[in-house]
Amino acid sequence: MCTMSAPLSPGFVNGDVSFWYRSLPTPGNPLDGDREADVAIVGAGYTGLWTAYYLKKAQPSLKVVVLEKEFAGFGASGRNGGWLTGALAGDPERYAKTHGPDAARRLQRAMFAAVDEVIRVAAEEGVEADIVKGGITTVARSAAQAGRLRDDLAWQREWGWDEEDVRLLSPGEMNERLRVDGALSATWSPHCARIQPAKLVRGLARAVRDLGVEIFEGTPVTRIVGGGAVTPYGTVTAPYVLRCTEGFTANLPGHHRDWLPMNSSMIVTEPLPEEVWETIGWAKRELLGDMAHYYMYAQRTADDRIAFGGRGKPYLFGSKVNERGLTHTWTVDALWDLLVSFFPSVASSSVAHAWSGVLGVPRDWCATVHVDHTTGLGWAGGYTGHGVTTTNLAGRTLCDLVLRRDSELTGLPWVDRRVRSWEPEPLRWLGVHSMYRLYRLADARESRGMTKTSTLAKIANKITGH
Ligand SMILES: Cc1cc2nc3c(=O)[nH]c(=O)nc-3n(C[C@H](O)[C@H](O)[C@H](O)COP(=O)(O)OP(=O)(O)OC[C@H]3O[C@@H](n4cnc5c(N)ncnc54)[C@H](O)[C@@H]3O)c2cc1C
Repeated sequence: MCTMSAPLSPGFVNGDVSFWYRSLPTPGNPLDGDREADVAIVGAGYTGLWTAYYLKKAQPSLKVVVLEKEFAGFGASGRNGGWLTGALAGDPERYAKTHGPDAARRLQRAMFAAVDEVIRVAAEEGVEADIVKGGITTVARSAAQAGRLRDDLAWQREWGWDEEDVRLLSPGEMNERLRVDGALSATWSPHCARIQPAKLVRGLARAVRDLGVEIFEGTPVTRIVGGGAVTPYGTVTAPYVLRCTEGFTANLPGHHRDWLPMNSSMIVTEPLPEEVWETIGWAKRELLGDMAHYYMYAQRTADDRIAFGGRGKPYLFGSKVNERGLTHTWTVDALWDLLVSFFPSVASSSVAHAWSGVLGVPRDWCATVHVDHTTGLGWAGGYTGHGVTTTNLAGRTLCDLVLRRDSELTGLPWVDRRVRSWEPEPLRWLGVHSMYRLYRLADARESRGMTKTSTLAKIANKITGH
């Protein structure tokens, strides 16, 4: 693929966690010796913090401790595209396999409701996170993509999305909402809100602390055992230890091949002038996605930039994690190219910041929530890039599981799923890199006039079980 060099702003920043932090938070106090708690949570991203929040709300007397290796919001929760989306993390057919199709539809409805739950709690707790519920537009920019969009809509109808949940836009509506160059068709769903990720996670951390939860930052957990989380500064002993480490899980002993740490990368423009917005539209601030295999995701930020993300460099050999988010020039250029192809009038702007983060991808690309009452160990994750809303549902579910409540949430089909591990290297690396290469080739072929999905993309999905 031939890409042009992205114009970089004079103060361009690469990595440094993400653009969403204008200045990086200084980590709070680390753990200062052994402690006892009722629940120890490893990881202060949305999963860990939502879990702590609902546990404390349910039982204020519980002693809940959160251990975070850097600072709250260091991971994907402080780096994402800000889609608070009702879309399911994974294929409903796979959830339906064990519990039947109605259970998968219940999970879908629970996801829709979770979007509003996050908005409700943010308002109640005074968390200001630039939230606007303008829905989501998904565009097709080739005949093959338009075919997939139609098929996707029919498939969504089967899995609990009614006409009010997602519908095709007429060309007039499309033009009025968001003018994407080369868009042939589009759908719109109300189940999505724009957020500023770091404001949400930092606000949530503050709300959780206000409830009396202790968050120890700069405190890496080196080992999780039944009854305790071990760190260099002491051990937190607790009847329940919950692992909420998503894309970083591969670094924990015993979990190297559970969830593959997959990178996603983003760029953000400078604030765009009014004349550019006049050509684009985007007044309702809905989120934007497409139907390409090498997909993109975007938002119009509160200060009128475009934050634009995509696949980037997919995966580092041996499940290594790119901690600070430094992003390869090739990825920055490719994202810029794609952005300008969507909105040619943006070409006069430049890239202010580029960054990357890791998602947790299980072998079957479906998320899990689990608590084992015998060992006291639990976890939630494997959201495959759909975690902003899913983490809220996961947090409430972990809370009910720990408190042994027999609730609607604990009966959802993602609870207690068993998933096989990823293959050893070099098979993991080869699998993911071939998938990405095939997706790029498939997109290129489809953009040259194919009317059906390229078989290369189908092969890619087969290789990795996507
Ligand atoms: C670039 C990018 C864009 C994305 N865009 C979207 C989007 O628009 N919408 C969407 O739904 N999803 C999106 N996602 C995915 C979403 O952000 C994640 O699914 C979600 O934030 C996961 O939250 P989490 O709390 O489970 O994990 P994380 O936020 O990654 O938190 C895990 C935390 O655990 C800590 N940790 C790890 N290991 C240890 C240890 N040993 N000891 C102590 N602490 C540890 C980490 O430092 C981190 O703070 C995106 C992800 C990325 C990277």
